[in-house]
Amino acid sequence: MTSRRCRNRVLAVVRAMVARGLVVGTTGNVSMRARDRVYITPTRLDYDAMTRRDVVAVELAGRPMRSRHGPSSELPLHLALYDRRPDVGGIVHTHSRAAVTWSMIASGLPPMTEDARYYRMGAVPVVPQTTPCAEPAALIAALGDGRAILLEGHGVVAVGEGPYEALWIACAVEHMAAVALSLRALRDGGGHCARRPAIVGTWCGLP
Ligand SMILES: [Zn+2]
Repeated sequence: MTSRRCRNRVLAVVRAMVARGLVVGTTGNVSMRARDRVYITPTRLDYDAMTRRDVVAVELAGRPMRSRHGPSSELPLHLALYDRRPDVGGIVHTHSRAAVTWSMIASGLPPMTEDARYYRMGAVPVVPQTTPCAEPAALIAALGDGRAILLEGHGVVAVGEGPYEALWIACAVEHMAAVALSLRALRDGGGHCARRPAIVGTWCGLP
């Protein structure tokens, strides 16, 4: 795939991510791997103003190529993930609302919806860390061979064969978290969860 197509693909996923309300302002980031390069969103640039030429190309070894912007500050996590997971071709990091909320009240998200099965997701662990670029090794260990992790009070890191699949995984995590929050609200409202208490208990993070 040409450099131009890679940049266009990253930009398209960025626009889809923004359109779905999964980030706040210039937060979050998107990258894809193509051969010996990684294409990643620049740091602190307005998504609405971003063009193909603003996407930053970096060698997999970490050396930046000529670019008009610096890469996302979370580039070290992306590079470390690509190094650890040869099956990963795209990474999306979001700050979506339900996922952030759930990450602050639970230790993980069970894979109990159809979306989780469809995307072959395991449980999504919550990592008690808010700065991914500080310690990528801890996040990579928490992800293992999985497809997403929740950063406590921060957001979602999702991986896929390419950036589009990573985006759908991030969307699935947000949906699962929203369902979990709804179930917990039902439980706290009393009575309505009696039909399937075991499942609801799991969703609500109960023992
Ligand atoms: Zn972030």
